Amino acid sequence: MDGIIDRLEIIQDDKSAAGSARPRLVIIGAGFGGLSAAMGLAHVAADVTVIDRRNHHLFQPLLYQVATAALSPADIAAPIRGILSRQANTDVTLGTVTGIDTAGRAVLIGERRIAYDQLVIATGARESYFGHDEWAAVTSGLKSIENATTMRRRILVAFECAEDCDDEAERRRLLTFVIIGGGPTGVELAGALAELARAALARDFRHIDPSTARIVLIEGGPRLLPSFPPGLSEKAARALARLGVEVRLDAMVTSCDRNGVAIGNERIYGRTLIWAAGVAASPAATWLGIKPGRGGRVPVGTDLTLPGHPEIFVIGDTAQVAGPGGPLPGVAPVANQQGTYVARVIAARLAGKPPSGPFRYRDFGNLATIGRHQAVVDFGWLRLTGRLAWLAWGVAHIYFLIGFRNRLAVAINWLWSYITYQRGARLITGQDM
Ligand SMILES: Cc1cc2nc3c(=O)[nH]c(=O)nc-3n(C[C@H](O)[C@H](O)[C@H](O)COP(=O)(O)OP(=O)(O)OC[C@H]3O[C@@H](n4cnc5c(N)ncnc54)[C@H](O)[C@@H]3O)c2cc1C
Repeated sequence: MDGIIDRLEIIQDDKSAAGSARPRLVIIGAGFGGLSAAMGLAHVAADVTVIDRRNHHLFQPLLYQVATAALSPADIAAPIRGILSRQANTDVTLGTVTGIDTAGRAVLIGERRIAYDQLVIATGARESYFGHDEWAAVTSGLKSIENATTMRRRILVAFECAEDCDDEAERRRLLTFVIIGGGPTGVELAGALAELARAALARDFRHIDPSTARIVLIEGGPRLLPSFPPGLSEKAARALARLGVEVRLDAMVTSCDRNGVAIGNERIYGRTLIWAAGVAASPAATWLGIKPGRGGRVPVGTDLTLPGHPEIFVIGDTAQVAGPGGPLPGVAPVANQQGTYVARVIAARLAGKPPSGPFRYRDFGNLATIGRHQAVVDFGWLRLTGRLAWLAWGVAHIYFLIGFRNRLAVAINWLWSYITYQRGARLITGQDM
């Protein structure tokens, strides 16, 4: 039956390509880049197809709050069909892209082919374990809703197991949480985890004291938040120390297993190991049959097209784009602005207008939060720390969330946690312990 459906779909897709008089624009990925490209193409006279392997757009910057039980998954995700439902020229396809036939101009989803005249690849990034793929099995990553709920389960189950454990050494291991990677994700997770243990869970157990949980944040480089100015890195380290987080700098993890991690000869025993150390681009370079750039990214020109293929754009975390101080970082504003730019270029092409200038990234700054009312914000012209920074961080994140319901839900949840110290989403779901 599946085979028949697949064959019908192949025929349908090719037929609609041949029969359609309008140009076919295909966007792979409805993350920050793909969605802003799709929205920018709302009014062009073309058939737009958005393909994603998930049915929802995900606001990744708040994933750590799902992982630490502050927010529920639906607060930070919105259905792609719902977001694009008012765009009459846009169709959404649920499917995992497996390849691209650049000569035949078709995107491949298994055996299914979706023809394109112009293609935007915005498939983001995935975890990278620096050549130690086996560490994926013993650490929790944070790229998807499933990752976040798995991490939440492991964190909460660790406290439950400790409550039931009579062996002191094992209880210490259960209550030790190791976060590998001192970038924004690691710092935010460490702060949120410390608050979960020291405040939200503090009075809920009878045989253990959750506030004695050991939280270790390990960074291979000389300072936390390497993309921020050094002064803010120091402030972040001090804020974490006040929350009782052990920060280890210049510490390279050399092995990870079910019992903990090693930093050279030193062993840290811990049950919950969190990976926040590295990402690599989606396998788009393989689909395109080209040599990948740094971190598996696809090197593109200043107009974000693949060299020799003006009909293929690559944007966001998957693209390697030269910026003033090296390749542009893998952050949401870069992907957003590239999506908007690409939509403008395509619209101009369809209207027969001359090409616009090269892509230029406007950097509005960096933000990271460290718990309840601590954050560091670097706008370039202004640096903030403490409560004011935390407020700026909160406003920015609520503003950029998609959907009125999500904004309201997140604001209410934050306010509730702020007043009560409670974490409303402390649910253990799923199987693996
Ligand atoms: C935990 C975490 C915290 C972060 N915090 C911040 C932050 O505070 N500030 C900030 O600016 N940035 C942050 N980022 C980075 C930011 O989220 C990314 O830079 C941004 O999402 C990149 O956008 P994108 O469109 O390239 O990819 P994504 O937003 O990742 O979207 C890629 C889309 O492609 C889809 N896709 C992937 N492969 C396939 C396939 N084979 N077939 C079909 N669909 C596919 C995915 O399902 C997804 O919807 C964070 C990232 C993470 C993981």
